Amino acid sequence: MTLSKRLLAVAEMIPGGAKIADVGSDHAQLPLFLLEQKRIQSAEAIENKPGPYARMAKAVRSSEFSEQVLLSLSDGISSLAEEVDTVVLAGMGGRLILRIIKDHPEKLAQVKTIVVDAHNERPLLIAEMGALSYRLVQAKFFYDEGIAYDVMRFDKNPGPIVYSSEECLFGPTHLKEDPGPDFRTYWSKEESRYGDLLKNEQLSPKARNDYETLVKAIQEVLHEH
Ligand code: SAM
Repeated sequence: MTLSKRLLAVAEMIPGGAKIADVGSDHAQLPLFLLEQKRIQSAEAIENKPGPYARMAKAVRSSEFSEQVLLSLSDGISSLAEEVDTVVLAGMGGRLILRIIKDHPEKLAQVKTIVVDAHNERPLLIAEMGALSYRLVQAKFFYDEGIAYDVMRFDKNPGPIVYSSEECLFGPTHLKEDPGPDFRTYWSKEESRYGDLLKNEQLSPKARNDYETLVKAIQEVLHEH
């Protein structure tokens, strides 16, 4: 089985030997790949709608791993299996991911690692995960078919973490380690985009100030990397 570059990046962040729950598993590609690679101990594949659930169940039942994947028709982590220690939320918006995580704080006690691939709202996600006592320990920024992704792994921390606005915007690990060429390409484009917006003389003073602050922050990060 082969995975897209995006799902492969997600797979690479799952701790070896994990007991995972893949929330919004769709075709169950991720758990089936990880089982095939013998990288995980067990998997729960979760879907909250009958149509996608039926697709997922069919994919699992027609695989050689039908006994090893627990199928669940439920909302988010509401019925997380007791043994699950790693939750994956991929291919969803950042606010939906947060809603799913925050709706069931009682389930988080057992969850050591959360791997996310959020379409959007990544700064909000980093800030809120920090507040929920999850530290961003690994992130991979890349383009796949012209779309920018930043797949992130959060591990449980003894207490809440307050990330600065810069850490939330760029990602705390990208500020410390080489974030790679795609990160630089993306932020160079953002710098140009905000530079163009600043040419508009009708901009409100607040928008001008916000964009100038952002361009300055981007320039500093690009200078350092
Ligand atoms: N995770 C796969 C991937 O990354 O390729 C599929 C992503 S697909 C765009 C999002 C999936 O999440 C859909 O199949 C949808 O039905 C499911 N989903 C959305 N909200 C959900 C929820 N609250 N609980 C479980 N599944 C959900």
